[in-house]
Amino acid sequence: MTLPKQTRTSTLDIAHHFADLPDAFFTHLMPTPLAKPYLVCASASAAALINFDPAEFTTTDFIDTFTGNRIADAVTPLAAVYSGHQFGVWAGQLGDGRAILLGDVPSTTGRMELQLKGAGPTPYSRGGDGRAVLRSSIREFLCSEAMAGLGIPTTRALCVTGSNQLVMREAPETTAVTTRMAPSFIRFGSFEHWYQNDQPALLRALADHVIDVHYPEARSDANPYAALLTSVTRRTAQMVAHWQAVGFMHGVMNTDNMSILGLTLDYGPFGFMDGFDPSHICNHTDQQGRYAYARQPQIAHWNCYALGQALLPLIGTVEETEAALANFKPDYDSMMAALLQAKLGLASVQPDDTALVDSLFAILQAGRVDFTLFFRRLGELQRDRPESDAPLRDLFIERAAFDAWATAYRQRLQHETRGDTERRLAMHAVNPKYVLRNHLAQVAIEKAQSGDYSEVARLLAILEKPFDDQPEFDNYAALPPDWASQLEVSCSS
Ligand code: AMP
Ligand code: MG
Repeated sequence: MTLPKQTRTSTLDIAHHFADLPDAFFTHLMPTPLAKPYLVCASASAAALINFDPAEFTTTDFIDTFTGNRIADAVTPLAAVYSGHQFGVWAGQLGDGRAILLGDVPSTTGRMELQLKGAGPTPYSRGGDGRAVLRSSIREFLCSEAMAGLGIPTTRALCVTGSNQLVMREAPETTAVTTRMAPSFIRFGSFEHWYQNDQPALLRALADHVIDVHYPEARSDANPYAALLTSVTRRTAQMVAHWQAVGFMHGVMNTDNMSILGLTLDYGPFGFMDGFDPSHICNHTDQQGRYAYARQPQIAHWNCYALGQALLPLIGTVEETEAALANFKPDYDSMMAALLQAKLGLASVQPDDTALVDSLFAILQAGRVDFTLFFRRLGELQRDRPESDAPLRDLFIERAAFDAWATAYRQRLQHETRGDTERRLAMHAVNPKYVLRNHLAQVAIEKAQSGDYSEVARLLAILEKPFDDQPEFDNYAALPPDWASQLEVSCSS
């Protein structure tokens, strides 16, 4: 399909396929306008997906449209209802408390929904103000685009607009609206909602919608609903393997934040691993560490069970439901093994590779070695020149432990046919140099809070190409400063 180039906001070819669902699924409503909105940042690569001309970004039309201040006649905005398990406990009805769906537009990869996050209260706001503050909006924007740059399934972010209008958090803060893009924002919790409310017809309507629009191949299966659960389970397992491989922590893996498409969804108190600690908790609110780094795969599987429970009345039998869910572990394990093999620069598989990986993680953990820097520098290792290891070895306090591991690694490399140069290129293509560390986001946020958005734009440009060397930005790949460990991020803001 060829699309017209340079679509303008005013001629958005917008439709509403989600609104084909029965009325019980959503409430039509208008976003609440914000006073004097301005552009904070926008992503040209996200815009390219929907054939949008970046020259539009600074127009009043664009800014008003993606703040929710101007709604074209063809657009019928809505907020969707869903429920979910939060921190392992059934939380009942939640829903789009501050997100408003404009509709879907054609994109280079099929239709994409456009959603305004922070565009004002909805019937699902549960006493909240329906707003998002500038700081959390910049974090969501940057991380969405950073994850896309890393090749990890994610919702996208088109832009953030801001306003000097204040909302109350711990202190008054200025508000912002993030325009998110995804083929769908349907969550596991959207299914749980109808299951828990004993509405089998609506549950079926939702499953049929998701199959017809997003998983058409499931329709020809003997049990389309089991096939749906299988596909969602597999995509979720693969998504989490990608998280683990780059040290990404989501922070709030509640079932209402789990995408039915296996996309990373709802960026809040996320983090990237600095010094390696599998028990690291990135969300200050998560005192029990339910969503700690090492627990993410297990929690994702638990979430798939919650979805399976909701789909059980449609699937028919516990056996078929469990068979679908049983895909999680083998898919996760094989994806993780493949990602780790690539991170270590191993093109072949040898029987002792698991032991090599396990011993590596043990020394990384013992020394709290920086996760990103370690793998990036490992790519520079020269097989026959241990004397060139200094930058890598310097990451370890316990040098002897590193030396022992490096000797084993070098022996392992003897079984590889690729030379140093070829291996380095392959490793640098999977081990990012740049990730969105909290302190980098923090610097950009503080500048933005004083009206200077240049650092957000710079970070976006760097993080869109996280595997490229970009030597002029070496300091963005450095160890976090001491103050970074004091940063706290918590749930919804
Ligand atoms: P989150 O932790 O951001 O995934 O949000 C959990 C639930 O709370 C979702 O239903 C959100 O829509 C809702 N929520 C979060 N913040 C607000 C807010 N400021 N106003 C209204 N609803 C909110
Ligand atoms: Mg959420």
